[in-house]
Amino acid sequence: MFDIGKKKKDDGIYLIGQNANDVTGSCIYIKYNGKKILLECGLYQNNNYLESYNINSEKFKFKPSEIDYVFVGHTHVDHIGLLPRLIKEGFTGKIIASHATAQLMKPLLYNCAFILLSEANALSFKYKRDYSPIYTEDDVAKTLEYIYEFDELHTQYILDDIVSFKWYENSHCVGARQLQLILKDKNGVSNSILYTSDIGSLNTKNHYVSNTEIPTDFNKVTIMESTYGEPGRINKKTRKFDLEHLRVAIETVTERGGTVVMPCFSFSRTQEILTNLYNIYHNTNFQYDIIVDSILSCDICDMYSNLLSDEDLDLWHKVKSWDNVKFIKEKEDSLACVKSHNPKIILSSSGFCTNGRILSYLHEYLNDENSMVIFSGYTGSDNSYLSYRIKNYKENKFIKISGDKVENKADCISLGTFSSHANRNELLTYGSKINTEKLVLVHGSIVAKNSLKEDLKEAISKENKTFKVVASAKDMVIGL
Ligand SMILES: [Zn+2]
Ligand SMILES: [Zn+2]
Repeated sequence: MFDIGKKKKDDGIYLIGQNANDVTGSCIYIKYNGKKILLECGLYQNNNYLESYNINSEKFKFKPSEIDYVFVGHTHVDHIGLLPRLIKEGFTGKIIASHATAQLMKPLLYNCAFILLSEANALSFKYKRDYSPIYTEDDVAKTLEYIYEFDELHTQYILDDIVSFKWYENSHCVGARQLQLILKDKNGVSNSILYTSDIGSLNTKNHYVSNTEIPTDFNKVTIMESTYGEPGRINKKTRKFDLEHLRVAIETVTERGGTVVMPCFSFSRTQEILTNLYNIYHNTNFQYDIIVDSILSCDICDMYSNLLSDEDLDLWHKVKSWDNVKFIKEKEDSLACVKSHNPKIILSSSGFCTNGRILSYLHEYLNDENSMVIFSGYTGSDNSYLSYRIKNYKENKFIKISGDKVENKADCISLGTFSSHANRNELLTYGSKINTEKLVLVHGSIVAKNSLKEDLKEAISKENKTFKVVASAKDMVIGL
Protein backbone atom coordinates (compact mmCIF):
# COMPACT_ATOMS: atom_id res chain seq x y z
CA MET A 1 0.00 0.00 0.00
CA PHE A 2 1.43 3.37 -0.93
CA ASP A 3 0.92 6.61 0.90
CA ILE A 4 -0.12 9.38 -1.46
CA GLY A 5 1.51 12.05 0.72
CA LYS A 6 4.94 10.46 0.30
CA LYS A 7 4.73 9.94 -3.44
CA LYS A 8 7.47 11.89 -5.21
CA LYS A 9 5.47 12.41 -8.34
CA ASP A 10 2.97 14.65 -6.73
CA ASP A 11 0.36 15.93 -9.16
CA GLY A 12 -1.38 13.15 -11.00
CA ILE A 13 -4.24 10.69 -11.28
CA TYR A 14 -4.02 7.91 -8.69
CA LEU A 15 -5.95 4.73 -9.48
CA ILE A 16 -6.59 3.78 -5.86
CA GLY A 17 -10.06 2.18 -6.19
CA GLN A 18 -11.03 -1.41 -6.90
CA ASN A 19 -12.18 -0.24 -10.33
CA ALA A 20 -8.50 -0.25 -11.33
CA ASN A 21 -8.65 -4.06 -11.20
CA ASP A 22 -12.34 -4.91 -11.31
CA VAL A 23 -15.85 -3.84 -12.41
CA THR A 24 -16.80 -2.45 -9.03
CA GLY A 25 -15.59 -0.03 -6.33
CA SER A 26 -15.05 3.10 -8.46
CA CYS A 27 -12.70 5.62 -6.88
CA ILE A 28 -9.96 7.71 -8.48
CA TYR A 29 -7.90 10.34 -6.63
CA ILE A 30 -6.53 13.40 -8.42
CA LYS A 31 -4.00 15.81 -6.96
CA TYR A 32 -3.35 18.96 -8.97
CA ASN A 33 -2.05 22.44 -8.18
CA GLY A 34 -2.97 22.13 -4.50
CA LYS A 35 -6.44 20.66 -5.14
CA LYS A 36 -7.51 17.16 -4.11
CA ILE A 37 -10.36 15.60 -6.00
CA LEU A 38 -12.11 12.22 -6.13
CA LEU A 39 -13.85 10.79 -9.16
CA GLU A 40 -16.56 8.82 -7.35
CA CYS A 41 -16.35 6.85 -4.14
CA GLY A 42 -18.12 3.53 -4.70
CA LEU A 43 -18.71 0.38 -2.75
CA TYR A 44 -16.85 -2.81 -3.60
CA GLN A 45 -19.58 -5.37 -4.27
CA ASN A 46 -18.96 -9.06 -4.04
CA ASN A 47 -21.07 -11.95 -2.85
CA ASN A 48 -18.51 -12.79 -0.14
CA TYR A 49 -19.62 -10.60 2.79
CA LEU A 50 -16.33 -10.90 4.66
CA GLU A 51 -14.16 -10.01 1.68
CA SER A 52 -16.30 -7.04 0.70
CA TYR A 53 -16.54 -5.90 4.33
CA ASN A 54 -12.75 -5.95 4.63
CA ILE A 55 -12.18 -4.12 1.35
CA ASN A 56 -14.86 -1.50 2.06
CA SER A 57 -13.38 -0.80 5.50
CA GLU A 58 -9.77 -0.47 4.29
CA LYS A 59 -8.14 2.77 5.41
CA PHE A 60 -8.50 5.50 2.76
CA LYS A 61 -5.20 6.32 1.04
CA PHE A 62 -5.85 10.03 1.52
CA LYS A 63 -7.21 12.24 4.27
CA PRO A 64 -10.98 12.64 3.69
CA SER A 65 -10.84 16.08 5.34
CA GLU A 66 -8.43 17.30 2.61
CA ILE A 67 -10.65 16.40 -0.37
CA ASP A 68 -12.14 19.47 -2.07
CA TYR A 69 -14.59 17.82 -4.48
CA VAL A 70 -16.06 14.41 -5.32
CA PHE A 71 -17.58 14.14 -8.79
CA VAL A 72 -20.28 11.50 -9.24
CA GLY A 73 -21.12 10.25 -12.76
CA HIS A 74 -24.20 8.19 -11.87
CA THR A 75 -26.13 6.61 -9.01
CA HIS A 76 -25.06 2.97 -9.01
CA VAL A 77 -23.86 1.76 -5.64
CA ASP A 78 -20.42 0.76 -6.95
CA HIS A 79 -19.94 4.48 -7.78
CA ILE A 80 -21.56 6.20 -4.75
CA GLY A 81 -21.83 3.60 -1.98
CA LEU A 82 -18.76 4.61 0.04
CA LEU A 83 -19.56 8.35 0.17
CA PRO A 84 -21.13 8.15 3.67
CA ARG A 85 -17.90 6.61 4.98
CA LEU A 86 -15.99 9.53 3.50
CA ILE A 87 -18.24 11.98 5.37
CA LYS A 88 -18.02 9.86 8.55
CA GLU A 89 -14.23 10.22 8.36
CA GLY A 90 -14.12 13.98 7.98
CA PHE A 91 -14.93 15.05 4.39
CA THR A 92 -16.40 18.56 4.26
CA GLY A 93 -16.00 19.38 0.56
CA LYS A 94 -18.59 19.30 -2.23
CA ILE A 95 -20.16 16.21 -3.82
CA ILE A 96 -21.02 17.21 -7.36
CA ALA A 97 -23.77 15.51 -9.36
CA SER A 98 -26.51 16.11 -11.91
CA HIS A 99 -30.00 16.85 -10.57
CA ALA A 100 -31.36 13.32 -11.09
CA THR A 101 -28.22 11.68 -9.71
CA ALA A 102 -28.34 13.92 -6.63
CA GLN A 103 -32.01 13.07 -6.02
CA LEU A 104 -31.62 9.34 -6.63
CA MET A 105 -28.66 9.11 -4.26
CA LYS A 106 -30.98 9.57 -1.30
CA PRO A 107 -33.04 6.33 -1.46
CA LEU A 108 -30.11 4.34 -2.83
CA LEU A 109 -27.71 5.36 -0.04
CA TYR A 110 -30.30 4.69 2.67
CA ASN A 111 -30.86 1.26 1.13
CA CYS A 112 -27.08 0.73 1.15
CA ALA A 113 -26.90 1.56 4.86
CA PHE A 114 -29.67 -0.96 5.49
CA ILE A 115 -27.89 -3.71 3.53
CA LEU A 116 -24.50 -2.94 5.14
CA LEU A 117 -26.15 -3.24 8.57
CA SER A 118 -27.70 -6.63 7.76
CA GLU A 119 -24.39 -7.86 6.30
CA ALA A 120 -22.50 -6.71 9.42
CA ASN A 121 -25.07 -8.50 11.62
CA ALA A 122 -24.71 -11.68 9.54
CA LEU A 123 -20.90 -11.52 9.92
CA SER A 124 -21.14 -10.91 13.69
CA PHE A 125 -23.44 -13.92 14.00
CA LYS A 126 -21.26 -16.17 11.84
CA TYR A 127 -17.86 -15.29 13.29
CA LYS A 128 -19.01 -14.58 16.89
CA ARG A 129 -17.33 -11.18 17.07
CA ASP A 130 -18.53 -7.64 16.62
CA TYR A 131 -18.64 -6.31 13.05
CA SER A 132 -19.96 -2.76 13.17
CA PRO A 133 -21.65 -1.56 9.97
CA ILE A 134 -19.38 0.41 7.62
CA TYR A 135 -21.72 3.36 8.07
CA THR A 136 -25.21 4.06 9.33
CA GLU A 137 -28.34 5.96 8.26
CA ASP A 138 -27.06 8.96 10.27
CA ASP A 139 -23.97 9.09 8.06
CA VAL A 140 -26.22 8.97 4.99
CA ALA A 141 -28.28 11.89 6.34
CA LYS A 142 -25.07 13.96 6.76
CA THR A 143 -23.82 12.95 3.30
CA LEU A 144 -26.92 14.41 1.66
CA GLU A 145 -25.99 17.86 3.05
CA TYR A 146 -22.77 17.89 1.00
CA ILE A 147 -24.39 17.21 -2.38
CA TYR A 148 -24.45 20.08 -4.90
CA GLU A 149 -26.48 19.86 -8.09
CA PHE A 150 -25.18 21.06 -11.45
CA ASP A 151 -27.42 19.89 -14.23
CA GLU A 152 -26.72 21.50 -17.62
CA LEU A 153 -24.89 19.61 -20.33
CA HIS A 154 -21.91 21.33 -22.07
CA THR A 155 -21.87 24.28 -19.65
CA GLN A 156 -18.52 25.06 -18.08
CA TYR A 157 -19.08 25.33 -14.33
CA ILE A 158 -16.29 27.17 -12.51
CA LEU A 159 -15.86 25.87 -8.94
CA ASP A 160 -12.79 27.95 -7.97
CA ASP A 161 -9.62 29.48 -9.49
CA ILE A 162 -8.29 26.08 -10.42
CA VAL A 163 -11.16 23.61 -10.90
CA SER A 164 -13.98 23.74 -13.42
CA PHE A 165 -15.95 21.06 -15.27
CA LYS A 166 -18.47 20.16 -17.97
CA TRP A 167 -20.97 17.33 -18.21
CA TYR A 168 -21.56 15.28 -21.37
CA GLU A 169 -24.52 13.05 -22.24
CA ASN A 170 -24.41 9.46 -21.04
CA SER A 171 -27.16 6.89 -21.67
CA HIS A 172 -26.04 4.55 -18.85
CA CYS A 173 -29.08 5.42 -16.67
CA VAL A 174 -31.31 8.35 -15.77
CA GLY A 175 -29.10 11.20 -14.50
CA ALA A 176 -25.84 9.68 -15.79
CA ARG A 177 -23.15 12.02 -17.14
CA GLN A 178 -19.63 11.87 -18.48
CA LEU A 179 -17.30 14.36 -16.83
CA GLN A 180 -14.75 16.70 -18.33
CA LEU A 181 -12.63 17.99 -15.47
CA ILE A 182 -10.68 21.15 -16.32
CA LEU A 183 -7.74 22.06 -14.06
CA LYS A 184 -5.57 25.19 -14.23
CA ASP A 185 -1.84 24.98 -13.48
CA LYS A 186 0.25 27.66 -11.73
CA ASN A 187 0.57 29.62 -14.99
CA GLY A 188 -3.17 29.57 -15.63
CA VAL A 189 -2.87 26.97 -18.39
CA SER A 190 -5.74 24.45 -18.51
CA ASN A 191 -5.34 20.70 -18.49
CA SER A 192 -8.34 18.48 -18.87
CA ILE A 193 -9.40 14.94 -18.04
CA LEU A 194 -12.38 13.08 -19.51
CA TYR A 195 -14.01 10.48 -17.25
CA THR A 196 -16.77 8.28 -18.67
CA SER A 197 -17.96 6.79 -15.35
CA ASP A 198 -19.97 3.77 -16.61
CA ILE A 199 -20.80 4.45 -20.20
CA GLY A 200 -24.14 3.68 -21.83
CA SER A 201 -24.79 2.65 -25.41
CA LEU A 202 -24.07 5.09 -28.27
CA ASN A 203 -27.42 4.03 -29.76
CA THR A 204 -29.45 3.18 -26.72
CA LYS A 205 -32.59 1.07 -26.88
CA ASN A 206 -33.51 1.96 -23.31
CA HIS A 207 -36.20 4.50 -22.45
CA TYR A 208 -35.78 7.80 -20.57
CA VAL A 209 -32.13 8.33 -21.61
CA SER A 210 -30.46 9.95 -24.64
CA ASN A 211 -27.60 8.42 -26.64
CA THR A 212 -24.12 8.65 -25.15
CA GLU A 213 -22.13 11.32 -26.99
CA ILE A 214 -18.46 11.18 -27.97
CA PRO A 215 -16.92 14.50 -26.81
CA THR A 216 -14.86 16.22 -29.49
CA ASP A 217 -12.75 18.44 -27.16
CA PHE A 218 -9.12 17.48 -26.57
CA ASN A 219 -8.38 15.98 -23.15
CA LYS A 220 -4.90 15.19 -21.91
CA VAL A 221 -6.11 11.98 -20.28
CA THR A 222 -9.31 10.03 -20.92
CA ILE A 223 -10.45 7.42 -18.41
CA MET A 224 -12.89 4.94 -19.97
CA GLU A 225 -14.74 1.98 -18.47
CA SER A 226 -14.31 -1.43 -20.12
CA THR A 227 -16.92 -3.70 -18.50
CA TYR A 228 -17.79 -5.38 -21.81
CA GLY A 229 -14.27 -5.36 -23.23
CA GLU A 230 -13.83 -9.12 -23.22
CA PRO A 231 -13.47 -10.77 -26.63
CA GLY A 232 -16.71 -12.40 -27.73
CA ARG A 233 -18.84 -10.10 -25.58
CA ILE A 234 -21.05 -9.33 -28.54
CA ASN A 235 -24.72 -10.07 -28.09
CA LYS A 236 -26.10 -11.18 -31.45
CA LYS A 237 -29.70 -11.00 -30.21
CA THR A 238 -31.62 -7.81 -30.87
CA ARG A 239 -33.96 -6.02 -28.47
CA LYS A 240 -36.83 -7.00 -30.78
CA PHE A 241 -35.88 -10.66 -30.35
CA ASP A 242 -35.73 -10.27 -26.55
CA LEU A 243 -39.13 -8.58 -26.41
CA GLU A 244 -40.70 -11.33 -28.50
CA HIS A 245 -39.05 -13.93 -26.24
CA LEU A 246 -40.45 -12.10 -23.20
CA ARG A 247 -43.95 -11.90 -24.69
CA VAL A 248 -44.09 -15.60 -25.61
CA ALA A 249 -42.71 -16.59 -22.18
CA ILE A 250 -45.26 -14.47 -20.28
CA GLU A 251 -48.15 -15.77 -22.37
CA THR A 252 -47.07 -19.41 -22.00
CA VAL A 253 -46.64 -19.13 -18.22
CA THR A 254 -49.84 -17.19 -17.49
CA GLU A 255 -51.93 -19.49 -19.71
CA ARG A 256 -50.77 -22.52 -17.73
CA GLY A 257 -51.54 -20.73 -14.44
CA GLY A 258 -47.95 -20.01 -13.41
CA THR A 259 -46.17 -16.95 -12.05
CA VAL A 260 -43.41 -15.07 -13.86
CA VAL A 261 -40.73 -13.96 -11.40
CA MET A 262 -38.37 -11.27 -12.69
CA PRO A 263 -35.47 -10.31 -10.41
CA CYS A 264 -34.76 -6.67 -11.33
CA PHE A 265 -32.56 -3.93 -9.91
CA SER A 266 -34.76 -1.27 -8.30
CA PHE A 267 -33.28 1.63 -10.24
CA SER A 268 -33.44 1.69 -14.03
CA ARG A 269 -34.06 -2.00 -14.89
CA THR A 270 -37.44 -2.19 -13.10
CA GLN A 271 -38.69 0.95 -14.86
CA GLU A 272 -37.30 -0.23 -18.22
CA ILE A 273 -38.96 -3.67 -18.01
CA LEU A 274 -42.23 -2.11 -16.87
CA THR A 275 -42.19 0.29 -19.82
CA ASN A 276 -41.53 -2.52 -22.28
CA LEU A 277 -44.40 -4.57 -20.82
CA TYR A 278 -46.64 -1.52 -21.20
CA ASN A 279 -45.58 -1.17 -24.84
CA ILE A 280 -46.28 -4.84 -25.53
CA TYR A 281 -49.63 -5.14 -23.75
CA HIS A 282 -51.42 -1.85 -23.13
CA ASN A 283 -53.40 -2.10 -26.37
CA THR A 284 -54.37 -5.73 -25.84
CA ASN A 285 -56.78 -7.50 -23.52
CA PHE A 286 -53.92 -8.68 -21.27
CA GLN A 287 -55.59 -9.43 -17.95
CA TYR A 288 -52.79 -10.34 -15.54
CA ASP A 289 -51.32 -8.19 -12.80
CA ILE A 290 -47.78 -6.89 -13.16
CA ILE A 291 -46.58 -6.33 -9.62
CA VAL A 292 -43.65 -4.21 -8.50
CA ASP A 293 -42.90 -5.57 -5.03
CA SER A 294 -39.98 -3.71 -3.40
CA ILE A 295 -40.05 -0.52 -1.33
CA LEU A 296 -36.98 0.87 -3.09
CA SER A 297 -38.33 0.05 -6.57
CA CYS A 298 -41.67 1.72 -5.71
CA ASP A 299 -39.88 4.80 -4.33
CA ILE A 300 -37.78 5.13 -7.46
CA CYS A 301 -40.88 4.68 -9.66
CA ASP A 302 -42.44 7.60 -7.72
CA MET A 303 -39.28 9.67 -8.16
CA TYR A 304 -39.29 9.15 -11.94
CA SER A 305 -42.47 11.26 -12.05
CA ASN A 306 -40.41 14.21 -10.75
CA LEU A 307 -37.18 13.52 -12.61
CA LEU A 308 -38.45 13.01 -16.16
CA SER A 309 -39.80 15.65 -18.50
CA ASP A 310 -41.61 16.10 -21.83
CA GLU A 311 -42.33 12.88 -23.81
CA ASP A 312 -40.44 10.77 -21.27
CA LEU A 313 -42.72 12.01 -18.52
CA ASP A 314 -45.85 11.46 -20.64
CA LEU A 315 -44.83 7.87 -21.33
CA TRP A 316 -43.90 7.22 -17.70
CA HIS A 317 -47.25 8.58 -16.50
CA LYS A 318 -49.03 6.17 -18.83
CA VAL A 319 -46.91 3.23 -17.64
CA LYS A 320 -47.36 4.05 -13.98
CA SER A 321 -51.11 4.54 -14.18
CA TRP A 322 -51.71 1.49 -16.41
CA ASP A 323 -54.46 -0.66 -14.85
CA ASN A 324 -52.40 -3.86 -14.91
CA VAL A 325 -49.56 -2.41 -12.80
CA LYS A 326 -49.69 -2.73 -9.01
CA PHE A 327 -47.12 -1.35 -6.59
CA ILE A 328 -46.56 -3.12 -3.27
CA LYS A 329 -44.76 -1.38 -0.41
CA GLU A 330 -46.35 -2.86 2.72
CA LYS A 331 -44.92 -6.08 4.10
CA GLU A 332 -48.36 -7.67 4.71
CA ASP A 333 -49.41 -6.99 1.10
CA SER A 334 -46.16 -8.54 -0.07
CA LEU A 335 -46.68 -11.69 2.02
CA ALA A 336 -50.25 -12.02 0.71
CA CYS A 337 -49.04 -11.60 -2.87
CA VAL A 338 -46.38 -14.28 -2.44
CA LYS A 339 -49.03 -16.75 -1.25
CA SER A 340 -51.71 -15.92 -3.85
CA HIS A 341 -51.11 -18.42 -6.61
CA ASN A 342 -52.98 -16.53 -9.33
CA PRO A 343 -51.04 -16.14 -12.58
CA LYS A 344 -49.07 -12.86 -12.37
CA ILE A 345 -45.82 -11.14 -13.26
CA ILE A 346 -43.56 -10.13 -10.37
CA LEU A 347 -40.80 -7.52 -10.62
CA SER A 348 -38.78 -7.52 -7.42
CA SER A 349 -35.25 -6.86 -6.23
CA SER A 350 -32.42 -7.41 -5.88
CA GLY A 351 -31.33 -8.27 -9.41
CA PHE A 352 -28.66 -10.68 -8.15
CA CYS A 353 -31.17 -12.23 -5.70
CA THR A 354 -28.71 -11.54 -2.86
CA ASN A 355 -31.37 -9.93 -0.65
CA GLY A 356 -34.83 -8.33 -0.74
CA ARG A 357 -38.34 -9.63 -1.32
CA ILE A 358 -37.36 -11.49 -4.49
CA LEU A 359 -36.15 -14.24 -2.14
CA SER A 360 -39.71 -14.89 -0.88
CA TYR A 361 -40.99 -15.26 -4.44
CA LEU A 362 -38.17 -17.60 -5.43
CA HIS A 363 -38.74 -19.62 -2.25
CA GLU A 364 -42.43 -19.96 -3.18
CA TYR A 365 -42.28 -20.46 -6.97
CA LEU A 366 -38.96 -22.07 -7.84
CA ASN A 367 -40.46 -25.50 -7.21
CA ASP A 368 -43.48 -24.80 -9.44
CA GLU A 369 -42.97 -26.25 -12.90
CA ASN A 370 -45.66 -23.93 -14.30
CA SER A 371 -43.75 -20.83 -13.20
CA MET A 372 -40.70 -19.16 -14.73
CA VAL A 373 -37.79 -17.01 -13.58
CA ILE A 374 -36.75 -14.39 -16.13
CA PHE A 375 -33.39 -12.67 -15.71
CA SER A 376 -32.72 -9.47 -17.62
CA GLY A 377 -29.14 -8.82 -16.56
CA TYR A 378 -25.88 -10.18 -15.31
CA THR A 379 -26.44 -13.19 -13.04
CA GLY A 380 -23.04 -13.30 -11.33
CA SER A 381 -19.78 -15.03 -12.20
CA ASP A 382 -19.93 -18.12 -10.00
CA ASN A 383 -22.15 -20.33 -7.87
CA SER A 384 -21.88 -18.06 -4.83
CA TYR A 385 -24.70 -16.06 -6.50
CA LEU A 386 -28.23 -17.42 -6.14
CA SER A 387 -29.10 -15.98 -9.57
CA TYR A 388 -26.21 -17.95 -11.09
CA ARG A 389 -27.33 -21.18 -9.39
CA ILE A 390 -30.94 -20.81 -10.53
CA LYS A 391 -29.81 -20.23 -14.08
CA ASN A 392 -27.17 -22.96 -14.25
CA TYR A 393 -28.11 -25.68 -11.75
CA LYS A 394 -30.96 -27.48 -13.52
CA GLU A 395 -29.27 -30.84 -13.01
CA ASN A 396 -28.71 -30.11 -9.28
CA LYS A 397 -32.36 -30.16 -8.41
CA PHE A 398 -32.33 -28.46 -5.01
CA ILE A 399 -31.25 -24.89 -4.32
CA LYS A 400 -30.88 -23.35 -0.88
CA ILE A 401 -33.01 -20.21 -0.40
CA SER A 402 -33.30 -18.49 2.98
CA GLY A 403 -32.04 -21.65 4.70
CA ASP A 404 -34.47 -24.06 2.97
CA LYS A 405 -33.83 -26.47 0.12
CA VAL A 406 -36.14 -25.67 -2.78
CA GLU A 407 -36.52 -27.82 -5.87
CA ASN A 408 -35.40 -25.96 -9.01
CA LYS A 409 -38.34 -26.91 -11.22
CA ALA A 410 -39.46 -23.57 -12.66
CA ASP A 411 -38.37 -22.66 -16.18
CA CYS A 412 -35.67 -20.04 -16.51
CA ILE A 413 -34.72 -17.72 -19.35
CA SER A 414 -32.31 -14.78 -19.68
CA LEU A 415 -32.74 -11.65 -21.75
CA GLY A 416 -29.41 -10.26 -22.91
CA THR A 417 -30.15 -6.87 -24.45
CA PHE A 418 -31.19 -4.86 -21.39
CA SER A 419 -27.67 -4.00 -20.31
CA SER A 420 -27.01 -0.36 -19.59
CA HIS A 421 -23.33 -0.61 -20.64
CA ALA A 422 -21.86 0.15 -24.05
CA ASN A 423 -21.03 -3.09 -25.84
CA ARG A 424 -17.55 -4.00 -27.06
CA ASN A 425 -17.94 -2.48 -30.55
CA GLU A 426 -19.23 0.74 -29.02
CA LEU A 427 -16.26 0.89 -26.65
CA LEU A 428 -13.98 0.52 -29.69
CA THR A 429 -15.82 3.30 -31.53
CA TYR A 430 -15.81 5.63 -28.53
CA GLY A 431 -12.20 4.89 -27.60
CA SER A 432 -10.88 5.50 -31.10
CA LYS A 433 -12.89 8.64 -31.92
CA ILE A 434 -12.03 10.75 -28.89
CA ASN A 435 -9.21 13.32 -28.90
CA THR A 436 -6.71 12.62 -26.20
CA GLU A 437 -3.06 12.02 -25.38
CA LYS A 438 -3.59 8.96 -23.22
CA LEU A 439 -6.57 6.60 -22.88
CA VAL A 440 -6.72 4.72 -19.57
CA LEU A 441 -9.00 1.65 -19.38
CA VAL A 442 -10.61 1.02 -15.99
CA HIS A 443 -13.69 -0.85 -14.60
CA GLY A 444 -13.01 -4.14 -16.40
CA SER A 445 -11.38 -7.50 -15.87
CA ILE A 446 -7.69 -7.89 -16.83
CA VAL A 447 -8.75 -10.00 -19.81
CA ALA A 448 -11.27 -7.34 -20.92
CA LYS A 449 -8.79 -4.47 -20.65
CA ASN A 450 -5.92 -6.22 -22.39
CA SER A 451 -8.06 -7.51 -25.21
CA LEU A 452 -9.76 -4.15 -25.68
CA LYS A 453 -6.37 -2.40 -25.56
CA GLU A 454 -5.04 -4.46 -28.49
CA ASP A 455 -8.12 -3.87 -30.66
CA LEU A 456 -8.23 -0.20 -29.71
CA LYS A 457 -4.66 0.31 -30.94
CA GLU A 458 -5.77 -0.90 -34.36
CA ALA A 459 -8.98 1.18 -34.33
CA ILE A 460 -7.03 4.29 -33.25
CA SER A 461 -4.54 3.96 -36.10
CA LYS A 462 -7.43 3.53 -38.57
CA GLU A 463 -8.65 6.94 -37.35
CA ASN A 464 -5.11 8.28 -38.13
CA LYS A 465 -4.52 8.99 -34.47
CA THR A 466 -1.55 8.07 -32.33
CA PHE A 467 -2.52 8.30 -28.66
CA LYS A 468 -1.48 5.71 -26.08
CA VAL A 469 -3.77 3.13 -24.45
CA VAL A 470 -3.07 2.02 -20.88
CA ALA A 471 -4.75 -0.86 -19.02
CA SER A 472 -5.18 0.19 -15.40
CA ALA A 473 -3.76 -1.65 -12.41
CA LYS A 474 -4.37 -0.92 -8.74
CA ASP A 475 -2.24 1.97 -7.39
CA MET A 476 -1.03 3.03 -10.83
CA VAL A 477 -0.27 6.78 -11.07
CA ILE A 478 -0.87 8.71 -14.30
CA GLY A 479 1.15 11.91 -14.55
CA LEU A 480 -0.53 15.20 -15.41
ZN1 LIG B 1 -23.29 1.77 -13.40
ZN1 LIG C 1 -20.13 0.45 -12.38
